[in-house]
Amino acid sequence: MDYHDVLRERLGKVEEFIKAKVPDAKTVSMVDTGVLSDRAVAERAGIGWSAKNCAIITPEFGSYVYLGNIITTVAIEPDTPITDQCGSCTKCIDACPTGALIQGGQLDSQKCVAFLTQTKGFIADEYRKKIGNRLYGCDTCQQVCPKNKGIDEHRHPELEPDPEIAKPKLIPLLTMSNREFKEKFGHVSGAWRGKKPIQRNAILALGHFKDKNALPVLKKLLKEDPRPVIRGTAAWAIGKIGHVEGEIWLKTAKEKEKDEQVLVEIEKGLNLLENTNFTDGNQMNV
Ligand code: SF4
Ligand code: SF4
Repeated sequence: MDYHDVLRERLGKVEEFIKAKVPDAKTVSMVDTGVLSDRAVAERAGIGWSAKNCAIITPEFGSYVYLGNIITTVAIEPDTPITDQCGSCTKCIDACPTGALIQGGQLDSQKCVAFLTQTKGFIADEYRKKIGNRLYGCDTCQQVCPKNKGIDEHRHPELEPDPEIAKPKLIPLLTMSNREFKEKFGHVSGAWRGKKPIQRNAILALGHFKDKNALPVLKKLLKEDPRPVIRGTAAWAIGKIGHVEGEIWLKTAKEKEKDEQVLVEIEKGLNLLENTNFTDGNQMNV
């Protein structure tokens, strides 16, 4: 489930608790989109330290925590901020696939895969391989962090990933209606940007997997999809996967195509096909 919903409900309970104790107390709670930076508040409140991977790391739960905050008129004794415990470790910086982490806990968000998977336009060539088969987000800098080792992150049933949702079949994703998408993924945070970024990422993943079974639907998307980013990414993926008739599909699409960026992607697909060997079973009927 989308953590925003889960945490808002929990913060609501804390607000109720405060008001039960102090009836004239005023409270305002926020999760992610409030006026305060959740991370800055968490750091000052002694929840954890702001680490080199740009996450707040807590001594008890590592960085596998969700942050929200409450402002209240009730005077509460402050906790002491925790001192940085990253020390000389650089594992997250070394493991980041795009070099988005800058020494000292800064993030170049334009390079971060988590950000890129949520954009709606074309993904620059240099980042396509780095995105690999991710549909949404990137946790590499948390997964490699020694402060997360041995931490049980399965504490809330609402936040347990459902495998069918977290790792859905890619080909059916490509032809989903808005309604189907909303029904299946509407309750998870990865759906907040709508289906287009997820579908674009699914096409990239199918291209990387060289999944021949995706060719019929990719051919159809290239021909019929009204969204340039989907047509263009499909053109690239057709070239990446390879098919003996791929050149005809791409050249036919090129004749009709008006969008400059899609035309660029069609050229990329054609170039990829030039280097494909078609003796390996890529000649299925499509
Ligand atoms: S989320 Fe991924 S891409 Fe972004 S900083 Fe962390 S490791 Fe790098
Ligand atoms: S991997 Fe190392 S440097 Fe990065 S956040 Fe974890 S402890 Fe800090």
